[in-house]
Amino acid sequence: MQYKSTRDAQNKVTASQAILQGLAVDGGLYVPVDYPSFDLDWDELKDFSYQELALYILKPFLGDFSDEQIKACVDAAYDEKFDDELIAPLVRVGDNYHLELFHGATLAFKDMALSILPHLLKTSAEINGIDREIIILTATSGDTGKAAMEGFADVEGTKIIVFYPKGGVSSIQEKQMVTQEGNNTYVISIEGNFDDAQTEVKRLFNDVELREELFSHEAQFSSANSMNIGRLVPQIVYYFYAYAQLVKVGALEAGEAMTVSVPTGNFGNILAAYYAKQSGLPIDTLVCASNENKVLYDFFETFTYDKNREFVLTSSPSMDILVSSNFERLVYHAVDDNTDILVDLMTSLETQGEYTLPEEYRGAFSDFKGQYASEEETQEEIEAVYESEGYLMDTHTAVASKALRKAKEGGLESKASVVVSTASPFKFPVAVLESIGISTLQKNDADVLHTLTKLSHTEIPQPMVGLLEAPVLHDRSISVEEMRSAVQEIAKDEE
Ligand SMILES: *Cc1c(COP(=O)(O)O)cnc(C)c1O
Repeated sequence: MQYKSTRDAQNKVTASQAILQGLAVDGGLYVPVDYPSFDLDWDELKDFSYQELALYILKPFLGDFSDEQIKACVDAAYDEKFDDELIAPLVRVGDNYHLELFHGATLAFKDMALSILPHLLKTSAEINGIDREIIILTATSGDTGKAAMEGFADVEGTKIIVFYPKGGVSSIQEKQMVTQEGNNTYVISIEGNFDDAQTEVKRLFNDVELREELFSHEAQFSSANSMNIGRLVPQIVYYFYAYAQLVKVGALEAGEAMTVSVPTGNFGNILAAYYAKQSGLPIDTLVCASNENKVLYDFFETFTYDKNREFVLTSSPSMDILVSSNFERLVYHAVDDNTDILVDLMTSLETQGEYTLPEEYRGAFSDFKGQYASEEETQEEIEAVYESEGYLMDTHTAVASKALRKAKEGGLESKASVVVSTASPFKFPVAVLESIGISTLQKNDADVLHTLTKLSHTEIPQPMVGLLEAPVLHDRSISVEEMRSAVQEIAKDEE
């Protein structure tokens, strides 16, 4: 199976090359040239472990990897780093099922992909006979950065540089990042929001001079952002896994469709659901859930993508995004893989901050349903589900839960619905407690976590223990204009 760039149809590469490059050199994103068709015998698949299913689903997507290589990557990724041996347990919560993707090292769903990406990258380098140092350049709205560093810390032959918006991540997220160990990890806050950081990172990737300079130091960039198909492809697996569990518990007969509701920011997670559907997984509706930064909701209503609006800081910071990078991939598929039209639309986004999809291409979005939750609705949802089910959700998951509820109130029908649960409530404890009416004003971080354990009847997750006392190892803060020189300097750094 091959991948091609959204901005140059002639640019076709293997899976390992796409993973190594991250972004295509033409500025496009790699997408599958075609989709695999699986022989889905759910009678058998429902009893597969997560690791077994991962091997089965990843195989066609990683066309130039051997079975042994894929197995080694899967085994290295999905191990005791996860505090649940199911890796991605599906839990019944009221009328819905929650697919808990937060059992990895950083308590958020980014671990699902970022625990395997370093291994996919190292293997890709081997396959292509490359021994340059790989410099991972990442902009984060909070969760990606930490999860990427956990994956890459002290991995030989790599460095990782993480830029995050100062004041744009939760205090626990910031603490997780600035205490990161590993000789090859660099964490820098920037004055600006996530979109500023992400835009500059994309620019650095396409900076030809910088690329040559790195080559002369035997180094090259790669990306741990969800633009890298090495991030997207592993996320396809858990949709198949969720479906297998629904069949196993009898919520669905094999072949019946499930509905998914996905809390969306950069559009990576929900795009993986779309790729799962394109590869034969029975999904009827994909609910695209936004917070108050509801650019995507507005798009699904009007077919105009308009980022010219106020950027709102919400209690679900990992979804505070106005330019959803991966949406380019869906738009590309919608315009029948027509590069010229896609480039026109993306140029309009870059220069005018908006574009409108021509009428004849709107059909491709019929499987998607946009919905959103305001800050108040998000809080109410956490409280309502806690009151009725005794289950505590984090703010991001609550946005998806509320969006699904609103979609159903608006007439959406579904035999079995899966709320994709992207973070542990322990990652956003203050917002969660405030939602259920518990004031945190008088409480320090430790008190807050203890209160949460009592109310959720669960232990403080292991990665959280010790975080409070961990020393700050990174405290650099720069402007967006200084990002380029910071990267140059770090590239020369001898660790
Ligand atoms: C990153 C993230 C999201 C958004 O996922 P995308 O793939 O960027 O759409 C949602 N929730 C949490 C907790 C996240 O970390």
